[in-house]
Amino acid sequence: MNSRYLMISEHWRRQYGEKVYKLPVGLPVTCPNRDGTCGVGGCIFCGEIGAGYENLPESMTVREQIAINRRHIQAKYKAEKFIAYLQNFSNTYLPPQQFAAYVEEACQPDVVAIAIATRPDCVNDKYLDILAELRERRGIDITIELGLQTVNYRTLAWINRGHGLAEFLDATLQSRRFGFDVCAHIILNLPGDEMIDVVEAAKTLSALNVQQVKLHALYVVKGTRLAELYERGELTLGSCEDYVERAMAFLEYLSPDIAVQRLIGRAPEANTLFTNWSMGWWKIRETIETRLTELDTWQGKRCDYLNGPAVKKFL
Ligand code: SF4
Repeated sequence: MNSRYLMISEHWRRQYGEKVYKLPVGLPVTCPNRDGTCGVGGCIFCGEIGAGYENLPESMTVREQIAINRRHIQAKYKAEKFIAYLQNFSNTYLPPQQFAAYVEEACQPDVVAIAIATRPDCVNDKYLDILAELRERRGIDITIELGLQTVNYRTLAWINRGHGLAEFLDATLQSRRFGFDVCAHIILNLPGDEMIDVVEAAKTLSALNVQQVKLHALYVVKGTRLAELYERGELTLGSCEDYVERAMAFLEYLSPDIAVQRLIGRAPEANTLFTNWSMGWWKIRETIETRLTELDTWQGKRCDYLNGPAVKKFL
C-alpha cells in the first residue's frame, strides 16, 4: 500500500489490472422508507432526488445511460473497463423479474462489474439468486452497496432510517454468503454520534469482512426535515477538524484489507444549505491525508481486536 490507506483505485487495479470507472445508472425506483412500506418521508437528510444528482434521466434505458456515460469517461480518461453503478434510492426495491431485466441490461461490453446500491431491508435471497445466476452466466462481478450510516441504533431511529443495525448485519452476511462484495456507506458526524460510534463502525465493518467503505459528512439538502432543523437553529454540526479526526480514527481501526471508495462525499451546493463546511471535498480529503502523514498513522494501525486478542499471549 503506497498510500496510508487502501484507495479504491488501488483495489480495482489489483483486481482488474488497470483503472476502472463507475458509470452511474438511474432506475425508476423509490424506497420503502419513502412510500410508507417501512416509513414515510424517508431519512431526515434524503432529498427528492436522492443521491442521483449526477445521473442521466431515468426515462433513458440502462443501455443508453451506460453508452453515454461510457463515451464521456472513455474520452476523458482513456478508460477501458467499467462498473455499472445502480446508484439512486433502493435498486432492489422492484419486482424480481424487473430487477433481473435491469441487471441483465447493465451487462454491456467492457462492464466488468455491477454495483447495486440498496437498503439493508431490501436484500433478499431471491434477488441474490438472480445476481448469482447472472455472475455465473455473464462472468460479471457483483458489489452490494448498503447504506448503514451509523452503527448507533439510537441514531438510526433519530434519522428515521426505518431499519436498525440488525438488518444491516443480516444483509451483509447474506450477501457475503453468496460471495458478493459489500460496500458500506457511513456518515461519520451524525448528530448524537460520538467518537466511540465511529470506532465501533470501523470495528463492526472489519469483523463483518466487508470489502469497501464510503465515508460522508452530513450535508443539509433543501426541503428535507434536516433542513427544517437547520433553519430553526436546532441542528448542531461538528467542525471540519472534528470530521478529520473522526475519519482518521475510523481508518486506524479499519481492517487494512477494506478499500476506501471515499473519505468525504460530494453534493451540489445549489441544492443544499450546508455542504462540507463550504470547502471542496478534495481539500478535506487532502487534509485527512496530510494529517495521517504528520501523525505517522495509517489504516489498520489499531486493527488488533479480531480473532480473540485476549488469548494471543498463550499462543
Ligand atoms: S434509504 Fe436512501 S433513498 Fe431511502 S429515504 Fe433513506 S437516504 Fe433516501
